[in-house]
Amino acid sequence: MLETYFSAPKTLRRLRGGISGPHIDAFADDLEREGYALSSSVRYIRAASHLGCFVQRKGSVLKEIDLTMLDSFCSHLRRCRCPHFKRGRISYHAQFGVKLFHHHLVGRGICPSESVPTLATHPPLVIAFCDWFRTHRGVKEPTLRHYARGATDLLRALGEDVSKWNAQAVRDFLLQRARHCGPRTTQALITSLRAFLRFLNFCGEFRDDLALAIPAVAHWRLARLPHCLSMEEVDRLIAACNGTDPRRLRDRAILLMLARLGLRAGDVACLRLTDIDWNNGTLQVTGKGRYQVRLPLPQDVGNALLRYLECRRANLATDHVFIRSIAPFRPFASGDGVSSVVKHALKRANIDTPAKGALCCATQQLRRCCGMACPWIRQALSSVTAALI
Ligand SMILES: [Zn+2]
Repeated sequence: MLETYFSAPKTLRRLRGGISGPHIDAFADDLEREGYALSSSVRYIRAASHLGCFVQRKGSVLKEIDLTMLDSFCSHLRRCRCPHFKRGRISYHAQFGVKLFHHHLVGRGICPSESVPTLATHPPLVIAFCDWFRTHRGVKEPTLRHYARGATDLLRALGEDVSKWNAQAVRDFLLQRARHCGPRTTQALITSLRAFLRFLNFCGEFRDDLALAIPAVAHWRLARLPHCLSMEEVDRLIAACNGTDPRRLRDRAILLMLARLGLRAGDVACLRLTDIDWNNGTLQVTGKGRYQVRLPLPQDVGNALLRYLECRRANLATDHVFIRSIAPFRPFASGDGVSSVVKHALKRANIDTPAKGALCCATQQLRRCCGMACPWIRQALSSVTAALI
């Protein structure tokens, strides 16, 4: 209901007019359902109405709104002279608001959805490669998309007749690509090419394993060795999440899970309430390749989890343990959200490290814990390591 956000009859009439008007009430309902703050929703609704005016002035209709149109709307914001709409410092909210409105229109079938690149657009051999890795290795879609990109580039460069490929051609392709991209991209390309070449070798396409032609990752990493946190830095990082507000309690629980259990960011993001066995003090983790392992839940991690769960939002339609701290209140879409928690904590703790993701925190702890004399934890962690690496 638009009346939740606006009371002046003139404003209500104006917002319900124009081409976005017929959808504005449903959009307001969506915003309320997703838990956006009142002040943010007011801005997003104004932005939706503003977009309607902009589209109408261009002589277009709602169904023609696409990402290009949203871009030109954002450029318009800088020089906007439309009556009733303010420009300047609120344009960030306007930009986000129109994205949300577009998403709402796509969901209602008013606008066509933006085409998301799918694996189906790749050559049949690459699709077969992805199917094999999905079935036999349990590789997830984001990784497969990245594998498919590298494999398709190699196929296009070296030709579809893979039986004619040789080690020199593969190496030349890699060196040529490495000249134009940074070390991280090169490393990602190496991983996908290795996987693809091993698959082809497994299928009997080559006499020799061409994956061996790919230089070792370490060779490409010489310029920038990974930096891990010291034990003192990890303690400072966790201390940076002291506090009683729900966000700090969540961040503290996340950091302790990464630090004490050596979990990957993706494992933490996927964790469900049913994965925690409070009676036996254990935690079930599904690692890479759908490998499942049950880990003992250390006392401090359990305490931090309990404190967070006591203030976690109720009435959520999900049993994921960790939820975003801003609207929409949903689980993290991937491990990136967890890595972002680490990144913010590093900033608060004033720790400067080139590797700002969750992994640097976890790897340090794995190394630290694997060196412990206690055999059961070493065994548990070595299982996790096998699943993670
Ligand atoms: Zn304008």
